[in-house]
Amino acid sequence: MEYEAVIGLEIHIQLATKTKLFCNCRNEYGAEPNTNVCPVCLGLPGALPVLNREAVKLALMAAMALDAKIHRKSFFYRKNYFYPDLPKGYQITQYVGSIATDAKLTFEIDGVERTVRIERMNVEEEAAKSFHAPDGTVLLDFNRSGIPLLEIVTMPDMRSPAEARRFLEILKRTIRYIGISACDMEKGELRVDSNVSVRPKGTEELGVKVELKNLNSFKAVEDGLKFEIQRQIKILESGGRVVQETRLWDEHKKETRTMRVKEEAHDYRYFPEPDLLPLLIDDELIESARKGMVELPEARRKRFITQYKLNPPLADVMVHERTFADYFEELAGLVTDKSLAANWLAVEVMKVLNEQGISIEEFPLRPKQIAELLKFVETKKITHNIAKKVFQKMLDGEGSAKEIIEREGLITMSDESELAKLVDEAISANPEIVEKYRKGKVGVIGVLVGYIMRKTRGRANAALVRKMLEEKLKA
Ligand code: ADP
Ligand code: ZN
Ligand code: MG
Repeated sequence: MEYEAVIGLEIHIQLATKTKLFCNCRNEYGAEPNTNVCPVCLGLPGALPVLNREAVKLALMAAMALDAKIHRKSFFYRKNYFYPDLPKGYQITQYVGSIATDAKLTFEIDGVERTVRIERMNVEEEAAKSFHAPDGTVLLDFNRSGIPLLEIVTMPDMRSPAEARRFLEILKRTIRYIGISACDMEKGELRVDSNVSVRPKGTEELGVKVELKNLNSFKAVEDGLKFEIQRQIKILESGGRVVQETRLWDEHKKETRTMRVKEEAHDYRYFPEPDLLPLLIDDELIESARKGMVELPEARRKRFITQYKLNPPLADVMVHERTFADYFEELAGLVTDKSLAANWLAVEVMKVLNEQGISIEEFPLRPKQIAELLKFVETKKITHNIAKKVFQKMLDGEGSAKEIIEREGLITMSDESELAKLVDEAISANPEIVEKYRKGKVGVIGVLVGYIMRKTRGRANAALVRKMLEEKLKA
């Protein structure tokens, strides 16, 4: 029997507000532990929460970006559970009556367009961060306590680990575009729990789901899901039943193991938060959220394909970050060959960014400087290989493209009378190669082309050289 996976994701994103959700403590990563704290976020008795308007605005921006239905009236609840990182004994979250519902994200995977529905989006507070020392001691940092979180719960609409990963990549891209979170997983700014079940292919009824935790990267999400899907299929094939539970992904052993058998909603004894009024969203807040909107990555990707005639994978790379897409558009405005520009960014510039671990904003060359170089390539004044060398020299601070090319005499040699001399020289210097060629091993012509390229330090027009050599050797 063939099985099909069914996947739904629960994502938590820390909102990049200046202050926390219910108090004026700074929302700041990496501060000295327990310095950004007050009675509210320490959960001291009698302290009262005051809602941060900015957090609501950022959540609304996410709702708009994900095409959600925004609810002008929503509610906060207490989700009760006992854990050292939660001093109040409850988390203030949304339960019945979310700020936004019925959202969706459309993206492309392997050339096929997919839409994943998002059931709801909730505003809630973050717990403190706990550190487990090897001796069993637990240390707590309350700087994280009370940071605003946006919880995004999808419908079980994904059908493969790769699709779940792609969804997450596009979600992260979208959130970064609107600037409401950097979504840095290493800092815990974006966290993912995956729910997965399997069912016989072609059937409708959902199987028993397992929730996976401890997925610390998109790769971990994909790997964890792959493992879990196989585990569940094996159970069903041997006539067993999948148990509904929460399992941990073990990155080292590459397997999942039971963490706890799933609690029910009533275990949390949800009830309305009596210290907060219903969350009412006025027109002004909607308007200020709308002002923060930008062209979203999927729309921009499609526009790049039509406007600049980029192939889909190249367009995808161009829009992976908003600032990168901005850089591309500035460059595209300065050159004729847009695909050449995109390729140059995707290959040569990306290589530098990856090697140096920098972003495009930190890249030392501006679009104008790259355009000057690419003009030489477009007009075939220099070869692609020479352009790479000039690019390196530009990075090394040896001047502009024009300066380097002129100073070093790098313009491509396409003058046939000049090249003819080199062709003669190559032939007389390599008698045994010529012999082989004439006996039918025509591939050895590459050696002669290489000889001329070396002599001219790569400047010779290689295609022309090859053609001239062939003519001469056949004569
Ligand atoms: P719970 O009440 O256990 O939290 P929900 O219905 O709220 O479950 O769903 C939580 C997440 O699990 C959602 O992302 C949803 O899409 C996903 N999910 C629900 N049922 C299944 C299933 N049978 N298989 C896979 N994912 C599921
Ligand atoms: Zn505080
Ligand atoms: Mg639920």
